[in-house]
Formats: sequence, C-alpha cells, structure tokens
Amino acid sequence: MRIIFSALMLLLLSAQSMTMAQRRKTTVDLIIRGGTIVTMDASRRVIENGGVAVNNGRIVAVGDTAEIDRKYAAREVVNAGGKVVIPGLINGHTHVPMTLFRGIADDLDLQEWLTKYIFPAEAKNVTEDFVRVGARLGLAEMIRSGTTTYCDMYYFEDAIADETSKAGVRGVLGETVIDFPVADNKTYEEALAYTERFIKKWQGNALVVPAIAPHAPYTVSEAHLKAARALSDRLRAPIVIHISETKREVDDSVAAKGASPIDYLNRIGFLNNRIVAAHVVWPSEEELGLLKKLGVGIVHNPQSNMKLASGTAPVPEMLKENLPVGLGTDGAASNNDLNLWEEMDTAAKLHKLISHDPKVLNALEAFEMATIRGARALHLENEIGSIEKGKRADLVVVDLDALNQTPSYNIYSDLVYATKAADVRTVIIEGRVVMRERRLLTLNEDAIKADARRYRERIVQSVGVKTLPEE
Ligand SMILES: [Zn+2]
Repeated sequence: MRIIFSALMLLLLSAQSMTMAQRRKTTVDLIIRGGTIVTMDASRRVIENGGVAVNNGRIVAVGDTAEIDRKYAAREVVNAGGKVVIPGLINGHTHVPMTLFRGIADDLDLQEWLTKYIFPAEAKNVTEDFVRVGARLGLAEMIRSGTTTYCDMYYFEDAIADETSKAGVRGVLGETVIDFPVADNKTYEEALAYTERFIKKWQGNALVVPAIAPHAPYTVSEAHLKAARALSDRLRAPIVIHISETKREVDDSVAAKGASPIDYLNRIGFLNNRIVAAHVVWPSEEELGLLKKLGVGIVHNPQSNMKLASGTAPVPEMLKENLPVGLGTDGAASNNDLNLWEEMDTAAKLHKLISHDPKVLNALEAFEMATIRGARALHLENEIGSIEKGKRADLVVVDLDALNQTPSYNIYSDLVYATKAADVRTVIIEGRVVMRERRLLTLNEDAIKADARRYRERIVQSVGVKTLPEE
C-alpha cells in the first residue's frame, strides 16, 4: 500500500514539475528547428542544428535547437532538419510588372531596346490591371526563389504596393517619375502629387516602404530631380534611381552638362543617404569615394548589365571600400528572370573573368551582397539582411541534399555556386509562412499564369512582336 502511495506521489510530483517546466517556456508564433543557420550576423556565425524563434513578425531568439526548445513553445513549427536556414534574399532593383515583357525583345543595346521596344510597349499596354497581373507574376517568382524583399521602380506603384502586401512580401517600392507622359500620370506635377499621396498612404506599413523613383538623370530635368529630392526630404522617403548605367549615358552627360552623371547629381545637391542607385557601372574612383562619403546605396545588376552589354561595374573596388552594394535582377525584360541565386553566381564569376583574378568576389562576398550588404544598399540593415534577435523574421529554408549540392564542404560555396532556386523549400516573411514545402500560400500560381498569357496576346497585337524565328 505504502509503495503504491509513494509511486503515486512520485508520478504526481513529476507531472507537476513537467507542467512547471512547460509554464516556464515562452509561447511564440513560430519556431524553425534543426537546420544549419547561416546568420550573416557581424561574426558570420553558422549554427549547426540551430533554431530560430519568431514572434510578432520579429526574430526573438537564435541558437542551438536544444536551447530554443528549452525556452520556447510555438504555435507553428517548421522542421528544417538536414536543411539550411538563410536570411531572405534581397533583390535590390527590379521593375516587377515587366515580367509581362519577359522575352519581348532580346539581344539589343539599352537605347534601342528602350526606345524601340520597351517605351512603345509600355505606352500601349500599361494600365493598373497590367501592373497588378505583372506584379503577382513577379512576386510568385520571387517567393519561389527565396527573395523576401525587393526594391521596385514602376508606374501605378500604389497597386504594386497593394499586391505586394497581399502576397506578404517586403518591398521598397518607388513610384516612377519621368519627363514624359506615362500611363498613370500625364505631367510631372501630377506624378509628384500621386507620389506624395502614395508615400503618405503606405508609410508605417510593416512590409511596404514607399519611395519616389525619378527614372534617371537623362530622363528627368534638374528642376524635377530637385523637386523629387525635396519631396524625399519632406517625407523622409527613399529615392530609387538609375545612375551611370552605360558609357553612352556618361558621355552624353559630359557633353550636355559638363559633368558625369554622379558629378552632376552631386553638383545639384541630389545625392544623400536615402538614395538607392541602380547600376553605377561607370563611376570614377573619386566618385566611388563620394558615394561612400554620402552614404548612397548601390545595386549591382550583373545579368542585366551583361545582357545589354552596358559594362561591368567596379564591384571589387566597391567591396574593398566597404560600400553598401547589393544585387538586383533589374526588370525581367532585360534578364529574363527574377532569380537572385543566378545573380550571386554570375556576380562572383563575372568579376573574376573581368579582373583575371579568381580570388575577387568570393562566395561569402556574393552571399553578403544578396543579404546583409543588400540590406545596407536599401538602408534597411537594422531591419533585415541577417538572422539576429530583433530583426524582421524574413527566413528561407533551403534544401541541402539535392544532387547538385552533394557532397557539401563549404556552406557559402554550396549556396552561391551550387544551389538553385528550385532548392528553396519554405519562405517566411515578417513571421508569416508564404511558401510551405514549395506550395505558395498567398498567391494562385495557375491564375497568375493564365492572366499573364492573356496579356501576352494583347502585347503581341499591340507592338507586333515576332514570336517565331524567320525562316
Ligand atoms: Zn532598371
């Protein structure tokens, strides 16, 4: 009798201590457990069999799985055993609706491509509906390839912001202002008024950072560039712009204004630490120093620059000077996809080839450009770009056992040179799972493809695209 009583007491006591231990655990929204965590924090810590706890859209703890399990219980658990967990990739420059112009005109230089094909096709086709359909297509493609933040520049950016927030994706979204009538605004004044309303509407949103995007110093006058900068100052909003994309742009600028694009923009007081400058292919050494001093973010678009033969940006020099330079795809019409894995791989190889030095732009540096350095380029390094306590929970679970990743020796080498977009399994943005085991949860892939194909017919009619090679 006494033995039974003691056994019962023991059972009761252990049950009590169990519940006390459970009570000591903090309940959070989501835990990722069991993966190799590539944190990209300041010490570039990689945690084997690690875990990440997420609550209210932010990372609350990063550590060993055992430590996370001891402290946290979660409403949702993502098992990353045998996989790698990385910070969400950052596409620093694109024009997301241009996915609908994918492949419309290839193998041309920038000026011919822009003036003969892209601008006319845009004039005839771009509407708010077009922009929404193209944005959904691009957003689905980016989620599928592990991109969690992108920086955009297009028209009807308010509709793009709406689609982006519905898809649960993070974006620095810039409304394009340009010195000719475009689909959403017929004058510069209207465009500025639209942009001001757009910025005020989205500022403070958890996912969308609204911005103003003067197209380039050769398509926007000095007065209008100054007006854009004044609006950015007044609303404390970022500016997205193309700078020094081609040699011709630099030569034309020197001929017309007596200064290179960067020199000219500096002279008119346009540059500061809220600027995100796409391309910067043709800066001088002094200009790189100037961009560094002013804190201008830079986005390198290796595949777009190669396809349009625009030149090779001096990225190894930018890295040597620790400039905030990220990676972008540019629009799908000049790439022709929105795949950051390819940009990492291409950037690393392009700069080795050009410099005749296989040691420049190593795998870790390429991965930095797609994550933490890319976050610096967008002036968001305190929010995204690494897996650290307090940052936004933008996390991507990637396979590590695909044939193309086997065997594995070095995680950064695996990620940059061997991993493909199709190896991305699960994507979490702001703590929300938007793709689980390759199934999109916020977007309907079949509907997106049907809508895009419908637009293809319309675009072919409008600009007479040749769809078959001539005999
Ligand atoms: Zn661009």
